[in-house]
Amino acid sequence: MHTGSPLLNSGLPMGTNHHTVGHLTVDGCGFACIYDFYTGSLSALYDFDAIVIEHTSHKSSRQLIHRIQSCADNNLFLAPIIVRSDYPLKDEILESICDGRVGSVARLSDFMPTIKAIHQKIREIKISRQSSFEHSTLFDFLAYCYTRSLDPVDPLLDGNSSLAYFYPYISGAMEKTHGSHSIFPILEWAVQEGYLHAQVINATYVCSQCHGGFLSYREVCPSCHSAHLRTEDIVHHFRCAHVAPLSDFKTMQDGEVYLECPKCHHELKHIGVDYDKPSSMHYCQSCNSDFQNYLMKAQCTSCHHDQEVEYLIKKEIQSFSLTDKAAASLRSGHLLGDENQLTPEVEGALPWDLFVQSLQFEQSNRNTREGYVITLAFEDIKSLVRQIGVHNKVKLYTEVIQIVQASQQATDIRSVHNHKIIFSLFKTSKEEAESISQRTVFLINHLLKDNLKVSRNMILTEILPFKEFTLDPHMIHQSE
Ligand SMILES: [Zn+2]
Ligand SMILES: [Zn+2]
Ligand SMILES: [Zn+2]
Repeated sequence: MHTGSPLLNSGLPMGTNHHTVGHLTVDGCGFACIYDFYTGSLSALYDFDAIVIEHTSHKSSRQLIHRIQSCADNNLFLAPIIVRSDYPLKDEILESICDGRVGSVARLSDFMPTIKAIHQKIREIKISRQSSFEHSTLFDFLAYCYTRSLDPVDPLLDGNSSLAYFYPYISGAMEKTHGSHSIFPILEWAVQEGYLHAQVINATYVCSQCHGGFLSYREVCPSCHSAHLRTEDIVHHFRCAHVAPLSDFKTMQDGEVYLECPKCHHELKHIGVDYDKPSSMHYCQSCNSDFQNYLMKAQCTSCHHDQEVEYLIKKEIQSFSLTDKAAASLRSGHLLGDENQLTPEVEGALPWDLFVQSLQFEQSNRNTREGYVITLAFEDIKSLVRQIGVHNKVKLYTEVIQIVQASQQATDIRSVHNHKIIFSLFKTSKEEAESISQRTVFLINHLLKDNLKVSRNMILTEILPFKEFTLDPHMIHQSE
């Protein structure tokens, strides 16, 4: 073992603190050593073969690992991670997102086979950004499972994730930005397309509004929905067939409570012999109504939506295995198969490369030099997609493209790229272009509000003279 500086009692190289990285070399393998409260730059971890995290709490260790595994640059999300702690971690989630625990730094060499195996697997595949955020997330999840030989990937019950279930890598990567429930459409799509094989291992009910898994259940009055209820057994006296609430039978004599029938005045001694309790009755303490069947309601602890339990959504909880198609996709560097799925085809819109070519062609054409190019972007596309669901995204774009097309002339073109809608208004004056842009935004807002019941979402517009429109490389490559 070689280190640049003496080791602390914890085993970390001296000088390691919340923003510096210690290093040591074991059997030719370079380890970055950091505390789990590390706040320094992630780029400082790029050049190491593996990362040792000094554990101070489960929460900090989990957060730091999620941060590292959310970093696609330099494939940092695949870096082998060993947690240094005196005691076994005894935290399923933490254990599922790291590659092992070491008690003393001197034992790091025990992990060399694991680390080498991960690096060997990383060399077998080609990591690259995919055409959309969802596809990149799936691709990286497949890569993570592949390099860790996770087969199958099992869900873990988790009190910290809004869904109540946790999948290694992907839950951590999605929780902060999209909410952990948004992994479902991605995983469902991956199963449909044959990248993952799923096996149902459990089921749960989730909030119908936000798909959160933490719900507060209670019985309420069917009239006023109050939870302030009183419940009483109904008593049936065999001898005279009288049926009434238990309290009607209760009588006090000499300081003792006994049961006497209010109708025939005989004493009720033995349940099953003298009487039985065929049902119970509920009384609302708020509105005084009585009823035999109460309502069950479940309030979501995430979005506070209060719903009757029949409206909850049943979710199957599955474990996943990578298919051969997934392995082939990882080796080729992109998701294989239906290419249309990679750049979802929106009816009426040109594929992006064709749009770019057409625009460049028109720019070189003297006759169409006048005119404008308009770019529309939803300010908060993440919350919009969260509300309508990933699968409805293409449908939404298709409708937006129809609105756009209605304002255009026959020779105009339009495309959808990186969540932006871009369209031409050739041979159009500035005033006209501005009013078309305003009207289009108005119509899209109308579509969102009235047809899709989506809460307000700002639409950002950009109007550029057609001849000045250049294809900003940032706009082309940025993925969200
Ligand atoms: Zn909810
Ligand atoms: Zn009776
Ligand atoms: Zn009531």
